[in-house]
Amino acid sequence: MSQTAAISNQTKRWQEMDAAHHLHPFTTHKDLARTGARVITRAEGVYLYDSEGKRLIDGMAGLWCVQVGYGREELAEAGYKALKELPYYNNFFQTTNPYAAELSQKLSEVCPKGIDRFFFANSGSEGNDSAIKLIRYYWNLMGKPKKKTFIARKKSYHGVTLAAASLSGLPHLHPQFDLPLPGFVHVECPDWFAEGGERTPEEHGLFAAKSLEDKILELGAENVAAFVAEPVQGAGGLIIPPANYWAEIQRICRKYDVLLHIDEVICGFGRTGNWFGCDTYGIEPDMINMAKGLSSGYQPIAAVGVGARVGDVLFNSDEEMAHGYTYSGHPVAAAVALANLELMQKEKLVEKAGGATGAHFQKRLAELDAHPLVGGTRGVGLLGAIEIVKDRKTRGKFPDVGTVGAQCRNHCFSNGLIMRAIGDTMVLSPPLTITESETDELFALARRCLDLTAKDLGVA
Ligand SMILES: *Cc1c(COP(=O)(O)O)cnc(C)c1O
Repeated sequence: MSQTAAISNQTKRWQEMDAAHHLHPFTTHKDLARTGARVITRAEGVYLYDSEGKRLIDGMAGLWCVQVGYGREELAEAGYKALKELPYYNNFFQTTNPYAAELSQKLSEVCPKGIDRFFFANSGSEGNDSAIKLIRYYWNLMGKPKKKTFIARKKSYHGVTLAAASLSGLPHLHPQFDLPLPGFVHVECPDWFAEGGERTPEEHGLFAAKSLEDKILELGAENVAAFVAEPVQGAGGLIIPPANYWAEIQRICRKYDVLLHIDEVICGFGRTGNWFGCDTYGIEPDMINMAKGLSSGYQPIAAVGVGARVGDVLFNSDEEMAHGYTYSGHPVAAAVALANLELMQKEKLVEKAGGATGAHFQKRLAELDAHPLVGGTRGVGLLGAIEIVKDRKTRGKFPDVGTVGAQCRNHCFSNGLIMRAIGDTMVLSPPLTITESETDELFALARRCLDLTAKDLGVA
């Protein structure tokens, strides 16, 4: 039997086990059973390898998270060392471990100004869920128990637990699960490309910000707990706010005494060219949520960071805070996150994302503006979006949005590139370690796949 055939049989066995027993996140299981799952077996640098030995360049850093690239010894060793010394102990009841203590200290150095106390969770969703609980608790301690409604935005993604999914503004996350829960409402987002019409991006930014003010006035400021938002909306289609948007949002939150909770799960840890999206957009948050890049995805860990306003109240409470996870501040996850942050600092990955690496990526991205299928590109740091359109002048989409995007994404898979399709918006978010030549390779493949999609559609 040839080597290839042997591997194929192994792949088939995995696919069969998987189809029979594995309920996947965000998957149409009927389709999966028919096609068989792609089995990713290893990864190195910016490349993934499947069980057939096929190499793919990972233009998405996993799910926007592998900042330092795959296969980093430093992180593996930090995890191994912690596993041997202290594989587990909890942080309940007046206890800590060295890794969680050191990680809190390190986070206070890199986080946006004023954010200096951290609660640990295991995922971005749990982080937001925890933030919602901490905000409810804060307003209760403050003697304002009516301030309970959370305002988030359309097309936002904040995770999938009952509360985080309620916060999320992507409509398909709700009906299957009878969500959103009461107390969660959504306002406009600054998606100029799709919704700006004849407005300039700045006019659209003000329009979106005004919808927050209108909603606060409608609900009554005395009933509003917090506004929650990503600096750049990720899963909603890489929506980059116009320059005037965030200043206006902050003015509104301050005016009505509404807490500002910033979801940094994608933007955090260098993605936008600074440590946090708050730094890039001049946001002064009351609290932030982080996950993904915190450990570069090597371990499940998240953190909610709080500033003095909320932190002082929680730290000075006489009662026990009845919230926490068995694995909050897990020693192995904390050790790996700490090694990840140290590696990012040693290799100046944030500075590079905001400097030469990001500039080269943005230059290659902008070159796709001229492609006949592309109605516009946009990006910041190591984030990029490519809008596939039918009409380049009016930004008009193809009918049945998502079909062409899926077609392009399938060409990408076949040609060795992971590029995500969100509707007909193609999205890139590679590891921060990507080199210039790897960036060139990524965009050469992206162009080839856009060409193949154009050919399918008969677009010259
Ligand atoms: C991914 C994501 C989450 C959810 O994180 P999980 O670890 O998948 O629970 C929350 N917020 C944002 C902005 C995200 O991109």
